[in-house]
Amino acid sequence: MTQSPMWKELTAAEIRALAAADATVLLPVASMEQHGPHLAVGVDTVLCEGVCRLAAEAVQGEMPVIVAPTLWCGMAEHHMAFGGTFTFDIPTYRAVLLAFLKSIERHGFKKVLIVNGHGGNISALAAFLPDFAVETGLKVRATTYFELAQPGIDTVLEDQERIRHACEGETSLMMALAPDLVRHDKLPEAVGPTHSTPRPLGVARFRSYKSFSDTGVVGDARRASREKGERLAVVCRDAIVGVLKDAEAWA
Ligand SMILES: [Zn+2]
Repeated sequence: MTQSPMWKELTAAEIRALAAADATVLLPVASMEQHGPHLAVGVDTVLCEGVCRLAAEAVQGEMPVIVAPTLWCGMAEHHMAFGGTFTFDIPTYRAVLLAFLKSIERHGFKKVLIVNGHGGNISALAAFLPDFAVETGLKVRATTYFELAQPGIDTVLEDQERIRHACEGETSLMMALAPDLVRHDKLPEAVGPTHSTPRPLGVARFRSYKSFSDTGVVGDARRASREKGERLAVVCRDAIVGVLKDAEAWA
């Protein structure tokens, strides 16, 4: 039987052996937040961990990779008004990520790819990278998987060109990776505006999702299908594999 690539499913000895083999660590970071009337709040966590697992399994036998436990909480103030949502504040998020990275480093790993699965985390992660470089000896790289895979995602989706929220894309992925967490009877009402920022203002401002989407959806989940989800999962998996194998990304 091939060994699981998931940190949480391995023994300490197996993880020490992976560190000795200079395995790359995938660190999924996600969120726990409302995803409309039809999806469980764990979407970002389930999907982010799911695509990381697929990527690690895809390179098994070629290069050592381990998937660290998923950080299931992120920056989600913009979803709090709907309930069901957890959020960090910036100092806490920074501290937790640093604690994870330092734990990984102390076990002898040298390379970490933070794989983000939640839009609300993107700017925070970018801002933390200099601190991670200074405060750890790790090579830390960060990506948001649905941005990384955007060229392929665009070819699968019909109603939208990129991943929105609880939308055609996320709902399709859930139908493929965690079908039991989709409430099919609620799909008819799982519709929202097409964009969260309808008109660029040239100024930054904070807005709750509640202020522009009654359902908590951005996009149209009625266009989702399991078949699209399976294709999206492959596209996302391959994009992460691409980074793992890209010497320039680790230079
Ligand atoms: Zn989401």
